[in-house]
Amino acid sequence: MTDNAVQTSLIQNLTSIVGDNYTITEQSKKQHYCKGFRFGSGDALAVVRPSSLLEIWQVLKACVAADVAVIMQAANTGLTGGSTPDGKDYDRSIVIISTMRISDIQLIDNAQQIIGLAGSTLFGLEDTLKPYGREPHSVIGSSCIGASIVGGICNNSGGALVQRGPAYTELSLFAQIDTDGKLSLVNNLGIKLGDTPEEILTNLQNKNYQEGEVEFPNKRASDNEYHERVRDIDADTPSRFNNDGRRLYESAGCAGKLAVFAVRLDTYEIPKKQQVFYVGTNDPAVLTKIRRHVLSNFKSLPVSGEYLHRDCYDTAKKYGKDSFLVIDKLGSKYIPKLFSIKRAVDGIASKFKFLPSKFSDRAMQYLSYLWPNHLPKRMEEFRDKYEHHWILEMSGEGVDEAQAFLSEFFETNEGGYFECTQDEGEKAILHRFAAGGAIGRYHAMHSDKVGSMMTIDVAFPRNELDWFEKLPPEIEEQVELKLYYGHLFCHVMHQNYILKKGADAKAIKNKILETFDARGAEYPAEHNVGHEYFAKDDLKNFYKTLDPTNTFNPGIGKTSKCKHWAE
Ligand SMILES: Cc1cc2nc3c(=O)[nH]c(=O)nc-3n(C[C@H](O)[C@H](O)[C@H](O)COP(=O)(O)OP(=O)(O)OC[C@H]3O[C@@H](n4cnc5c(N)ncnc54)[C@H](O)[C@@H]3O)c2cc1C
Repeated sequence: MTDNAVQTSLIQNLTSIVGDNYTITEQSKKQHYCKGFRFGSGDALAVVRPSSLLEIWQVLKACVAADVAVIMQAANTGLTGGSTPDGKDYDRSIVIISTMRISDIQLIDNAQQIIGLAGSTLFGLEDTLKPYGREPHSVIGSSCIGASIVGGICNNSGGALVQRGPAYTELSLFAQIDTDGKLSLVNNLGIKLGDTPEEILTNLQNKNYQEGEVEFPNKRASDNEYHERVRDIDADTPSRFNNDGRRLYESAGCAGKLAVFAVRLDTYEIPKKQQVFYVGTNDPAVLTKIRRHVLSNFKSLPVSGEYLHRDCYDTAKKYGKDSFLVIDKLGSKYIPKLFSIKRAVDGIASKFKFLPSKFSDRAMQYLSYLWPNHLPKRMEEFRDKYEHHWILEMSGEGVDEAQAFLSEFFETNEGGYFECTQDEGEKAILHRFAAGGAIGRYHAMHSDKVGSMMTIDVAFPRNELDWFEKLPPEIEEQVELKLYYGHLFCHVMHQNYILKKGADAKAIKNKILETFDARGAEYPAEHNVGHEYFAKDDLKNFYKTLDPTNTFNPGIGKTSKCKHWAE
């Protein structure tokens, strides 16, 4: 058969498995699946949206037989282009398998653990666990925009919660292609589900197993030693980062080099007594002192500690206001709905030449100006007084520890703090969340006047004292705006830059990364390599072992895009 005939026959096969409505080949309809949230885009022969685990398996078999590359995709909220094709230089056609129709979550061991099927979301998990007084690994951040449980595991995603570390498990169900190109199903969920792939997948989908058949092997269902690593403030390595070989295990960190059907994970008790403290200072060394003291002396680890620079505060106030207001007034449940409305509006607007690009962003931005200032008065006063802001969230005994420590600490140190009311605390955390999307909005609104957008996701060694970046003048003068925020206790910083027109983003990024290398920092910290960062040896070898034919997500981590890893 010619290449064209193979492709036509594959599309017919895919259609017969998932149906006409869920086999997408039309360019405009594929767009949403072929373009990353922030970076990356390319083309795919087809996007398929299976409705069951068995359909995924059948789609995989058809793809392997047709010798195409496969990209497994969940909610496509990854920030480094790792969930979509990238560019044109592939040696085979690509099929994207979007898993979001398969969203079941199963509780085991009285909700101490869960099994999340391929397209289940963190949001869905939060809702499912609430009646049990428990919650997932991640509760704010990408969960608000519909990120999946499995996408998080495959990316070793991080997040704001200090005690939890990267999303991780050693218990999962996945398909793998061996050196000879043979597809097989591996059941390491710790539940006997049958012998053939068809039996295993159907039994899991239908929850056709008894509690008594759930085994408890000596395997982790979370990074349950992270609390020790994060406390080790004198270690000269970061506490977590994507190239960390210790946290690469089958599905965990696989970045789509396997096809993951389900993962089994620990859940967490919802902290009872909680209190947010809002800290401000003009000297980053003050925050360093607090970080080191809390991590090494407090009996109770903080829930979260989100840092925000004043410029980021201001940008989020203006360009993240609509996201803030939607969540504050309508609830975070509305955000995925808002994103799908936004996509539909942009799709329609792109057909009218007289409308500007990024129409929905512009419309939302102008609408947000109609609303009065949405930030609490005390936060605004701190904004005027202090350059560096830290939102400290404590629970249980940690609340008393923080109260006692902060009141004494600021008697002799520069800066100040206040104990937030419930409303202030929620708004402070929401404001930090809004900062994540504000850079994209700023760029969309000013794209005619500024240069590229550049983002760096970096993990500093735990003993780093000088975490706040001071750029050399020759770089500083090429930067229009810098937005710094991050998970300061974990020493994970997100440093986002809008460059001036004409500035060479690649050269500038490389210079900054060189300085990080010299300081023992690691990047990416939690957004995974995608098509933005090089996979280091541990990660590259892990990918090669999982996928010797390089059929799944080829090119990830700037590796070879060719079959059998040919260069
Ligand atoms: C506003 C915003 C805030 C964010 N905040 C954070 C944050 O605080 N911390 C953080 O770490 N990240 C954050 N992210 C990044 C992103 O949300 C996470 O990486 C997320 O875990 C990805 O989930 P997803 O469902 O979108 O997966 P996708 O983006 O669809 O996929 C992620 C990776 O997993 C692979 N994959 C997906 N499904 C499967 C499968 N079934 N089998 C095999 N491989 C699969 C994909 O190929 C890809 O490589 C944020 C993103 C946004 C937009």
